[in-house]
Parts: sequence; structure tokens; C-alpha cells
Amino acid sequence: NSVLTKTTKIAVAHGDGIGPEIMKATLNIMKAAGAKIETESMEIGEQVYLSGNSSGITEAAWDAISRNKVILKAPITTPQGKGYKSLNVTLRKSLGLFANVRPVNALHPFVKTNFPTMDIVVIRENEEDLYAGIEHRQTEDVVQCLKLITRPGCEKIVRYAFEYARAYNRKKVTCMVKDNIMKLTDGLFHTVFKEIALEYPEIESNSQIIDIGSAKIAASPEDFDVIVTSNLYGDIISDIVAEIGGSVGMAGSANIGRNIAMFEAIHGSAPDISGQRIANPSGLLNAAVMMLAHIGQAEVADNIKNAWLATLEDGIHTADVYQKSISTKKVGTEEFAEAIIERLGTTP
Ligand code: ATP
Ligand code: MG
Repeated sequence: NSVLTKTTKIAVAHGDGIGPEIMKATLNIMKAAGAKIETESMEIGEQVYLSGNSSGITEAAWDAISRNKVILKAPITTPQGKGYKSLNVTLRKSLGLFANVRPVNALHPFVKTNFPTMDIVVIRENEEDLYAGIEHRQTEDVVQCLKLITRPGCEKIVRYAFEYARAYNRKKVTCMVKDNIMKLTDGLFHTVFKEIALEYPEIESNSQIIDIGSAKIAASPEDFDVIVTSNLYGDIISDIVAEIGGSVGMAGSANIGRNIAMFEAIHGSAPDISGQRIANPSGLLNAAVMMLAHIGQAEVADNIKNAWLATLEDGIHTADVYQKSISTKKVGTEEFAEAIIERLGTTP
């Protein structure tokens, strides 16, 4: 971490449920690793919703986002009941976060999985498709939702997937579509994929129909590398991948826009274990590692990642991944974070 690295300002949302517990652990680890960041806290989530703001985000939080451009977000709770708009959808749309990136790799034998060698990155288009929010009622009994796919949208996400593969030395990009049925919309996505693949001859590319493709992911995930797909398919596939990779408590994700990026754990606010200080901070920590790489602090990111792996390898596990046969110690959130901090500087 050279003295020349410039400090990056980050907007931090501490979230609801286990959010504040895992955010505190994550920030402590980043600080101990010497991350050059300056954080500004912002209010979003449950309290904002309950104060009568149906969007769940305050004006001050919007200002913090536009000042900082990089967001680290803990999970939030959307209150039950009608009228509360999904904050995630609002943020993605308002900030133009066109790519959702979710890496999942098995940590066999330290975290239980049926697929010890799987290592997949799902890159999901985040703005278009059936999520564009174009729904109509035609008659009392007939409703419709419009699937919107644009060439610029396809180009942006497909190019991002190939650039990601190049940057992270990935070997293959697989496109998932259903263009045998949706010839225009999915057909366009597939056409653009084939065009852009030609510009990356060193990366293998192929395409699968989404139904059999998802079945193959579930049966032999080790055959996949980077997957690029449209919004709804990506939503479903990324959950399948996270689930078969181990624990929902482990994976982080990035939402990438042109000049704003948001990093978060894939899991929710886990109200069932909130306040017990037992939550696994790994999902948010992995999101923070992606954030550090994104802002040009790859060395700090690698240091944290290696210390985290060393902690898991030493059998120091939070309750969600604890197994009698291989774990040596069941720890809470804070103790897990301290174990990682003790292992900073470890080489793999
Ligand atoms: P949401 O609706 O908020 O997106 P959800 O209700 O689908 O989320 P989560 O809040 O992600 O689900 O929780 C699902 C289960 O996983 C719960 O039993 C929760 O306790 C557990 N879980 C989630 N995250 C963690 C974590 N970081 N550490 C330990 N357990 C977790
Ligand atoms: Mg929940």
C-alpha cells in the first residue's frame, strides 16, 4: 500500500438487522489492513421507511452518494406491507448501476459444498428486461409486463463481462438466453454476445439456453467460469450459484455503474439472529474486497482476502459454517474479525 495511493471517499450504509454488526467488523478489518478510505455514514432502510418516506432513502443520503461515488452497503430491512418501494431497485435505476457482479467459489473443505472446485462469476444485466417496470392492465382479467432489451444495454453488459474476464484472467464467458422462443429480445442479446466475443479471441465463449443451462449449473458448476445474462435470468442463476457454493453468509457482490459503484453482501438483514453478535461478516467483507480492488487498492484487497482464507483454514468459523469435523473454534462476529486482523500479512 504505497504512500502514493490516494484516499478514496466511501458512503457507508450501516443497514438494519445484522447490518451494523457486520459493517463494524468489516470497517475494523479494512482499517487494520491500511485501506486508504474516508467513510461518510448515510441513513437508508427501515427507520427511513417507517418515518413515512416510502423510498427508504433520505435527501441527505442521496447527497452523500453523489459526493462519494462509491457505496458500501449493509443489508437493510424493507418493512412488511404495501407502499414501500424496493430500495435496491431504486438505487440501481437512479444510479445507472448496469452490472451486478457476483463471484462464488467453493472453499472446500472449510465450508461444506457438494462442488469442491466450483468457481463462478455471474454478471447480470441490472437495468432492463422485465425489471424495466413497464406493466399494464389491459382489462379486468388481462395484465402484461413488457420485456425491454436494447442494443446499447446488451453491448454494455456483454463488454463488461469480457473485460472482467480479461482483467481477472478468466478463461470462458457463457451467455444464457432463451432465443429459441424470444427471437427478438433474447435474440438481440445473443447476437450482440457473438459480435463482441470476436473482439476477445483469447477468451473462450459459448451460449446456452437458460433452462438446460441452469440445470447444468446445478449439476456440474465446475464446467462454468464467467456467466453473462439478462436481468431476470441473472437473478435466478445467481441465487442458484450462491446456494450450491456454500453459505449465503459468504458471498459479496458489486453493482457497477458508469461513475458510481455499490458493494454489498448477497444476503439479507437476517432479523432472526440480529443483536446476537454471531453473524458471519464474510459476505460484506468480500464485497469490501471487491470495492478495494475497484478503487485501485488491490494490494490491500489481497491482504484481507488471504487473512480471511487463513482464518477459515485454521478452522475459526462463525456458527453458520461451523462443522464439528473440521472446525476448531466457533466464534462470534467480533472474534472472527479479530482473527482475520491477526492474520493480515499472511501469504497463501
Ligand atoms: P431479504 O428478504 O432481506 O433479502 P431473506 O429473508 O431472504 O433476506 P436473509 O436475511 O438473507 O434472508 O436470511 C436467510 C437465512 O440466512 C436466515 O436464517 C439468516 O439467519 C441466515 N443468514 C443470512 N445472512 C447471514 C450471515 N451473514 N451470517 C449468518 N447467517 C446468515
Ligand atoms: Mg430477510
